[in-house]
Amino acid sequence: MNPGHLTEMQLQGLSDGTLRGPEGLAAREHCGSCAACGAELASYSALVARLSALTDPEAPADFTAAVLARVAVREAQLETRRQTLLAAIPACALAVVAIIGFGLSLHVDKLIDGLAVARTVLGVLGPVFAATRIPLGIGAFLFLAAVLTALSRTLKPAYARSVES
Ligand SMILES: [Zn+2]
Repeated sequence: MNPGHLTEMQLQGLSDGTLRGPEGLAAREHCGSCAACGAELASYSALVARLSALTDPEAPADFTAAVLARVAVREAQLETRRQTLLAAIPACALAVVAIIGFGLSLHVDKLIDGLAVARTVLGVLGPVFAATRIPLGIGAFLFLAAVLTALSRTLKPAYARSVES
């Protein structure tokens, strides 16, 4: 910028009235004698006049009510989801217990395997474990699969609703 001319800060100060005192007087005098700064000051002044003429846009009359209604709908959806999850916890816990039971039955099987004293007991229980192990495991996994399927089905409408809104 030409050192003789006013800075943008000075021009803006002049146009919005914040540049006062001797500095403001000198700046105004410069604008009176300098065509370039005078033109810039005029454009800044026009801008300031337009900006001060602007008013905040009016919010729609039902804005607050609409926002609150949306918040209420969202909270209701979250509550529904929470309750569905809470309802699913016992079922999941049962499935986990069943699977752990399956694992423990294998463990007990090995434990008994290691005890020489219990070999006769194993002779009796062995076939029982062998007979129950597979169905128990399959049952546990089927149960877990059923719980997860039911869970995904009950959660889907909640997701669909939240996407729609
Ligand atoms: Zn100038």
